[in-house]
Amino acid sequence: MPHFSPGLGEVGGTSSRGSRLKRFSGRAFVLLLLFANGFALAQISSPDERYKADILLVVAHPDDDTVVSSYLARAVFDQHKRVAIVFCTPGDSGSNSEGREHARALGLVREIEARRAMIALGITNVWFLNGRDTASQDVQLSLATWPSASVLEQAVRVIRLTRPEVVMSWLPSSVAGENHGDHQASGVIATEAFDIAGDPTVFPSQVAAPLRQYENALEGLSPWQSKKLYYFTDAFDTEFFRGHGPEYDGKDISSSKHVSYLQLAARSAAAYYTQLLDPNLGKRIEAGDTSSAFGADLVSSCAPANFAHAWKCSGGTRRFLGLLSRVLAGTRIEFAHVTASRDRNTTRRHVDHSTARKEQQLAAAAGHG
Ligand SMILES: [Zn+2]
Repeated sequence: MPHFSPGLGEVGGTSSRGSRLKRFSGRAFVLLLLFANGFALAQISSPDERYKADILLVVAHPDDDTVVSSYLARAVFDQHKRVAIVFCTPGDSGSNSEGREHARALGLVREIEARRAMIALGITNVWFLNGRDTASQDVQLSLATWPSASVLEQAVRVIRLTRPEVVMSWLPSSVAGENHGDHQASGVIATEAFDIAGDPTVFPSQVAAPLRQYENALEGLSPWQSKKLYYFTDAFDTEFFRGHGPEYDGKDISSSKHVSYLQLAARSAAAYYTQLLDPNLGKRIEAGDTSSAFGADLVSSCAPANFAHAWKCSGGTRRFLGLLSRVLAGTRIEFAHVTASRDRNTTRRHVDHSTARKEQQLAAAAGHG
């Protein structure tokens, strides 16, 4: 607060003159506040550059990032890309190798694991949306459970905040592979958000200018259309992906870190104690040990690899590697750039079905009530 001389209103000889001066000083104070407020609003007319992203990754669960983390290491450390990530759920129906916590308590644990994994990759802009981890291979069940409308609104908000040039997500289609319904659902949400975040009539309170300094309804964001949308997949056979986007070799050596991108990815994945079949392996890797169970020998013996190859290759050590086998799949990371309207229509059908299904469930619940 500005400091005013307490004696200002006392200048002068008569009481009437003193009261006029008091009124004048009071008006000046109000004018000064208005000026200061206007100045402050003018100052915040530009977006907060700390949250600008080159790449926004949209995934379902903490540890989904491990599928592309060798690429993320390259992007952050050597290409100096600004990467942000959205987890649609906290992974609250996953397993737990480290402690007894499950369900929502496990979600709290996995959120911190994800933040630690991302810090290992130099990524601090990490958000969690309010989806619920839904263990199935049914994308429509996932979208209905999350619920998708709320998650979509939040995803659009994050895109408008981070203004990414590129959005990356899971392929929103069924594949022969891990094929988690939540993975597909995060791809649906990413696709929908990519398509609508640039339209100011969608979620208009997000793009309305704030009316006052202490605003809690109108958000002051701007519409944003990202340039490209890329999918990755946990399909066992990624042949159908080939040639539709860039590929990266995780065995390449980071010019700034002087180890392979796969090893940087393994250091990141090591934070997911609850999801490693042997949490001690994660602890050893975090301590700097990459020479034993997860080392250069294993990486080179698995190359070239895809998702299935990595699991097969880690064969004898698979029960120790578990999640880290996924990292090995990053020996060759493939992305597919999506332009076909057919793909968009597929995702729209998913959302429409989800909405219809949810409405049916609500109607049924109301009927029983
Ligand atoms: Zn997952």
